[in-house]
Amino acid sequence: MNDNNFKAMVVTETDAGLFNRQIKTRALADLPEGEVLVNVKYSSLNYKDALSANGNKGVTRNFPHTPGIDAAGIVTQSSVEQFVAGEAVIITGYDLGMNTAGGYGQYICVPASWVVRLPENLTLHESMVYGTAGLTAALSVDKLLLNGAKPEHGEILVTGATGGVGSIAVAILSKQGFDVVASSGKSAETAFLKLLGAKEVIDRQAMNDQSGRPVGKPRWAGVVDTVAGNTLTTALKTTKPGGSVTCCGMIAAMDFSSSIFPFILRGVNLLGVDSVEIPVEYKSRMWSRLANEWKIDQLKTLCTDTTLEKLDDSIDAILAGEIKGRTVVSIDPS
Ligand code: NDP
Repeated sequence: MNDNNFKAMVVTETDAGLFNRQIKTRALADLPEGEVLVNVKYSSLNYKDALSANGNKGVTRNFPHTPGIDAAGIVTQSSVEQFVAGEAVIITGYDLGMNTAGGYGQYICVPASWVVRLPENLTLHESMVYGTAGLTAALSVDKLLLNGAKPEHGEILVTGATGGVGSIAVAILSKQGFDVVASSGKSAETAFLKLLGAKEVIDRQAMNDQSGRPVGKPRWAGVVDTVAGNTLTTALKTTKPGGSVTCCGMIAAMDFSSSIFPFILRGVNLLGVDSVEIPVEYKSRMWSRLANEWKIDQLKTLCTDTTLEKLDDSIDAILAGEIKGRTVVSIDPS
């Protein structure tokens, strides 16, 4: 491998419409034009990466392709003043890893408007323990706070709690003094969720109301929902007057149904969370919080480390809903 070549995961579509993943040598000249060239040290595994790595055309239209919606690394070349070679940076979302070659390669080339400077008090590795999932958890908490959530209002429910977004949301909220109730399908992970700060763990079936009633007994002052479907429907029915429910994910379904009663009888707020296309300044603010006042003590507990060569098993596991916490992928750590 010479200086102009690098290692990357490449997903290829076969003539039969199947997709295979290989670790290949690529040339810097293969990368799209961009203002900032980054030597990727770490990436991470998100649900969306697993979809892209399996040929999901809703995420990635054109193959061959290198997935990886998250990257943390060192700027090696920059054509803009605001970044210089040697700076440590984070890139998450926008088109990275979707139709732009992503973080599962030792180099990425991106517009400067996608790049966040690594905040103080955070290492590149820690930034990828958070990754897009952590940013999304932070945005969800931010939305709850902006809509008036306070610890004295009562319990906050987090669904899909052992997942990337869920586990980090549990830890951030509990660090901010909230009583967090974690909803999970993994009874064996109760101790893990309590270690993250959950006060109580409930089985995800408890959030699958089939009564047909428009509202239920109000319990939650707020909800961070990552699952959608009937879980989100049930969350809305059981949120207290004036409470807020954030919605970022679609693990169970791409839709949900609801009567208008949670909204007009209880003034419940449904708050959408997008971590991908929001302005880079907003991302930067959230990264600074994740590095400082919201920095969670359990980053090591949350993290499983892997390499590009061993990523296949984790990709299958995340699609099966079997991942716990966050998976960091070492790309070029030396
Ligand atoms: P993970 O795969 O890490 O976690 C998802 C969790 O959901 C699982 O660990 C599991 O937790 C739970 N789960 C799995 N299957 C089911 C099921 N059938 N019904 C109910 N719960 C289930 O995903 P992430 O946390 O990274 O992401 C969560 C969602 O948020 C995804 O849909 C993702 O695409 C989306 N997302 C959206 C973003 C945005 O910008 N809007 C950004 C990041 C993610 P448990 O066993 O504990 O219940």
